[in-house]
This record gives sequence, structure tokens and C-alpha cells, in this order.
Amino acid sequence: MIGIFGGTFDPVHFGHLRPALELAEALRLDEMRLLPAGRPPHRDPPVAPPEARRHMVELAIEPEPTLQLDDRELRRPGPSWMVDTLTELRAEVGDRPLLLVVGSDAVTSLHHWHRWRELFRLAHLVVAGRPGWEPSPQAPAWAELEERRLASAEALAERPAGGVLFRAVTPLEISSTAIRRLLAEGGNPRYLLPETVLQWIRRHRIYDRPGQPASGTAGQEGR
Ligand code: ATP
Repeated sequence: MIGIFGGTFDPVHFGHLRPALELAEALRLDEMRLLPAGRPPHRDPPVAPPEARRHMVELAIEPEPTLQLDDRELRRPGPSWMVDTLTELRAEVGDRPLLLVVGSDAVTSLHHWHRWRELFRLAHLVVAGRPGWEPSPQAPAWAELEERRLASAEALAERPAGGVLFRAVTPLEISSTAIRRLLAEGGNPRYLLPETVLQWIRRHRIYDRPGQPASGTAGQEGR
């Protein structure tokens, strides 16, 4: 089974990494891929350029072979629709189960995702608990999620796609927004993200000014 953990990773932090690892182990995945979004269509453009976000993920997963990088959305022009990404992946993996992992904040906005109902034809959805984001029955996608809800993790292996699993993970109230804000204000986000990532951000001054895209070649340097 292959897990796909998408995000802007602007920057990647322990609230991404720890749930990704815990789910990979608990669900006995063969791989868990961190997939940085190229041009996320549903939100403001990321502050750090694609190359920088890719490199921060590379630094973060370097000590942990269970986690891998899938950078296809960064290489693909145009908006990063998850349904296109999963279609590509499905063509590559045949009928192996694919698990799209999201934090519980995504439940509220899932109905805004491009052709969101098609996601279930392509992958299972695993919803990881995120502090402050109790999945709400008020969410427009709720009925679909309930209908597809699996009784146990074992059921994921029984078919390639179509199920929904809610899983608790170690709750870590960390967000990229808070880290960017701290850095822009000259604060210290140490212990919220890997030290190697923090050192690289500081060296290249990626988030020094709030809301300003970091300049040009930062992602190419320091490798
Ligand atoms: P931002 O603050 O810029 O919106 P973020 O911290 O929410 O960023 P993203 O890269 O947007 O991070 O998130 C990628 C995925 O990781 C999403 O599915 C999100 O729900 C999940 N996620 C992010 N932070 C956490 C966390 N602390 N705990 C659990 N899941 C998380």
C-alpha cells in the first residue's frame, strides 16, 4: 500500500512528519510519499518557491527511509489538481491500494477540491486528527465520507480505493503559518520543525518578510 501526503510544506514541520511516519507504521504501508503541491488552486500561493519547498522536504526526510518525496506536482505545469495527480499515480501502481492522507482540517473544505468525488475512485482517504479541527458533520462532504467509512484499517488492503478511515495521531498543534509568522517577526521556531530545515531557512532568509515570495534561486543552493 502506498500513502500520499500532499501539502504546500511552506515549510514542512513536525505536524506533517510525525503523522506521516505514524500512519506509515500503523497502517503497514510500503511507502509514504510527501507530495509538495505545485500551484495549489484553493489557497494563496506559497511564500517559498517550489524548489525551496522541495528541498526542505528532502532535508526533513533524509534520516527516515520510510518517508519519500514525490515531486511530480512541482514538475507539472498548471494548477495542481489532486485528481490529476492520483490519476497519474493510479496508472503507475496498477491495483495496489493508494491512500490519500489529509489532516482533519481538510474535511471542511474537501467539497471545494476539483472533481472531489472522483478521488474515491482513485484512492482511499485517510483523515489524520489535527488539534482544533474535529471533523464536523456540518461539512458538505460529510455524507459521502460517512457512507464510505471503513470499520477497520485492515479493510484498506481489501480494495484499491474508495474507503475512508479516520485515524488519531500524536496531536501536534503546529502550522506552517505560525512558523512563517515567527520567522518574519524574528522569533524562534526551533523544535517545531527539523533543525536542518530551520538552519537552511535561516541561511537563505526564506521567510524574512511576511507575504513576500523569496527571491529566485534559493531552492538551488546549499545542497
Ligand atoms: P499553512 O499554515 O501554510 O496552511 P499547514 O501547516 O496547514 O500550512 P499544509 O502544508 O497546508 O500545512 O498541510 C499539508 C497537510 O498536512 C494537510 O492535509 C494538513 O491537514 C496536514 N497537516 C498540517 N499540519 C498538521 C498538523 N499539525 N497535524 C495534522 N495534520 C497536519
